[in-house]
Amino acid sequence: MPNLSTGIGLQFDLLPQLRISVAREFQNCRFFQNVVFEKGKKRMSERADHLLKTIWLMHEKCVVDSESILSQVPMQVRATAKMLERNGLISAKNGQIRLLPKGHKKAESLIRRHLLAERLLSDVFQVSDKEMAKSACAFEHILSPEVTDSVCTFLGHPPVCPHGIAIPRGRCCAKFTKDVKPVVHRLLDMEIGEKAKIVFIAPGRNKTLDRLAIFGVVPGNQVRLEQKRPAYVIQVDETVLALEADLCEGIYVKNLNGAET
Ligand SMILES: [Zn+2]
Ligand SMILES: [Zn+2]
Repeated sequence: MPNLSTGIGLQFDLLPQLRISVAREFQNCRFFQNVVFEKGKKRMSERADHLLKTIWLMHEKCVVDSESILSQVPMQVRATAKMLERNGLISAKNGQIRLLPKGHKKAESLIRRHLLAERLLSDVFQVSDKEMAKSACAFEHILSPEVTDSVCTFLGHPPVCPHGIAIPRGRCCAKFTKDVKPVVHRLLDMEIGEKAKIVFIAPGRNKTLDRLAIFGVVPGNQVRLEQKRPAYVIQVDETVLALEADLCEGIYVKNLNGAET
């Protein structure tokens, strides 16, 4: 193990040199492998991903000059431009940076995963903005294409992130426009007269929501939406409840499509 003088934080890049004994069950954990074992390797590719995403976002704003793009990121991230160029992801000439088709595809997929992670963290888990930025970056490196599409479907194929940036569409979204409804959506998005089954209640969104359990507002039960204004009126079993919209926000339902009505 290298000698670290006090005051110098443990560099992640040094981690591969450490001997760590890991319980067997963690050895197969993808997250653990990513974070601990491949940290040294990953840092470089993560920085390159960061630059790629920045280029993509700047291009969305029609900015292509390298100075403006590179000024957005820290020095270490800037240094990965050469690597991206070598790998055929970007072209950098005449003071401009452009995404090549391969780079565009990769950047778009990174952005999609990042913004969907943001939506998941803010809509479902209600984490703070600061925590969201950190976790969304970690998420985007873990989500596989299949899981990404599942998250997208679960969230009802959201068009924008919580900050209003358009989320690049995936294969699932194209299917969605044909099939009309996602599997799971918010109670808020139900149609009047529609019946659905409660599948999920977002944790910690509202204390009152816990108390609603007494009235049968729990996963597994059926609800029927009676009206949306001035309040959401839902029927659960024999009980009719009037709820404020913000209270309904954390309730996710599955469309019954008339099958179990
Ligand atoms: Zn965002
Ligand atoms: Zn989708």
